[in-house]
Amino acid sequence: MFEDLKIISWPDPRLLKLSSPVETFNDDLGTLAMRMIELMRAAKGVGLAAPQVGQNIRLFVIGPTGNPEDERVYVNPVISDLAGDQEGEEGCLSLPGITAKIVRADSVKIDAHDLSGRPIQDVQTQYLARIWQHEFDHLNGKLLMDRMGTLSKLGNRKKLRDLEAEYKEAHEKKKVPALRF
Ligand code: ZN
Repeated sequence: MFEDLKIISWPDPRLLKLSSPVETFNDDLGTLAMRMIELMRAAKGVGLAAPQVGQNIRLFVIGPTGNPEDERVYVNPVISDLAGDQEGEEGCLSLPGITAKIVRADSVKIDAHDLSGRPIQDVQTQYLARIWQHEFDHLNGKLLMDRMGTLSKLGNRKKLRDLEAEYKEAHEKKKVPALRF
């Protein structure tokens, strides 16, 4: 299961959907999370949300240091207690080639479940808080463009157009030549 899982790129509509809560904590969920961790590692990302692999469920994985010991899975996360501001450069595995300065809360609390359904709670600042907020946005169909300033939008306009064109080319129905009699 999930052998064919791959990271999808904007403007795939699955990236823009509100994802549904996970209701069943079964082996498939564990398999999906492990597969997502592998994809995140291979892409050298620090986080990956289920919608980015075409699964519209509320789950994300993080690997903030590249060290497997620091990898975590969050199921049905809720972010609260946002405090302070931080600004930093962000990219997204579903927006190849695009980076932008994004303002996030400096400190946030997360309440979630692990793969067995046990509750997790944690408070973090800075880098980890930023990763949580980025991945959490994916579960609500929000991408960097929804958080970018006008200058970043203008600066990334061409790359976004290129991504749109690539998606169109990959997904357009192959035109069947008209039969002529
Ligand atoms: Zn992302």
